[in-house]
Amino acid sequence: MFVEQMFDIEGLKKAKNAVILAHNYQILPIQNVADFTGDSLELSMAARDTDSNIIVFCGVDFMAETAAILNPDKKVLIPSKEAICPMAMQINADMVKKAKEKYNAPFVAYVNTHAETKALADVCCTSANVVKVVENLDSERVLLGPDANLAWYAAEKTGKEVIPVPQYGNCCVHQAFKVEDVMVARKEHPDAKIIVHPECRPDVQKLADFVGSTSQMIKFVKNSNDKKIIIGTEIGLVERLRKDRPDKIILSLRESICRAMKKNTIDKLVRILSEESNVVKVDNKIAERAKMAIERMFELC
Ligand code: SF4
Repeated sequence: MFVEQMFDIEGLKKAKNAVILAHNYQILPIQNVADFTGDSLELSMAARDTDSNIIVFCGVDFMAETAAILNPDKKVLIPSKEAICPMAMQINADMVKKAKEKYNAPFVAYVNTHAETKALADVCCTSANVVKVVENLDSERVLLGPDANLAWYAAEKTGKEVIPVPQYGNCCVHQAFKVEDVMVARKEHPDAKIIVHPECRPDVQKLADFVGSTSQMIKFVKNSNDKKIIIGTEIGLVERLRKDRPDKIILSLRESICRAMKKNTIDKLVRILSEESNVVKVDNKIAERAKMAIERMFELC
């Protein structure tokens, strides 16, 4: 990144009382200029707690929507309107209504959903708190969507019946990791620990040494004595850990890239912040109902 761009961003941030939030999967130059980096849960909390007038959300559409829902009086901007999560599109309000009618169970909306879906949820969850949320719900049967692998993970950890809605929803970035990747990694690096995200396939999760959200992976790397760690999640987190922990050997289980996350660039960030464009808006009624599900998540955890 050019030094001038760095000055532009710092100057714009001050002049406009803006804060930059960046997901762990963003390109490194964006993570480097962000005021907060983190996973969906950490960024939701940062969005909830900020005093800034403008939130620049460097992530994908549903994340910026969540920030807008939690901050109806603030301006939320996203660098690229093309940063659209393909998994969030795999579920909609109609599917939730039908599943609730069929199973008569509470619906847990993974935060990776659009506002219309969250508005019908009993509670939201992230990959960092899904176990606590499901555990603390007063029901032995729970609906969860759209990620079927995360639903499997929640069922394993809680012993509850967790029904995925839809049946086979998944994140293409994490679905790309295969059992063979783990087998090859074990053979080539017998001295390494393998850690993966709960959006990975169940058979990959079963073979890993640790399963956790990106923030839990960062903690694992920080607290572990292992010199070599192989990571099964999007490449942005692997690059960040390599930069933060030069004392360790950080490898990727497979180079898996989220194209949606990479739509945001420094140039776009500078432009939308100076123009105050790409404002994220959510219908008031939908936002109010979605906010209740997000706040219930904070209560349950
Ligand atoms: S990593 Fe997967 S869930 Fe996250 S934004 Fe990309 S496609 Fe969506």
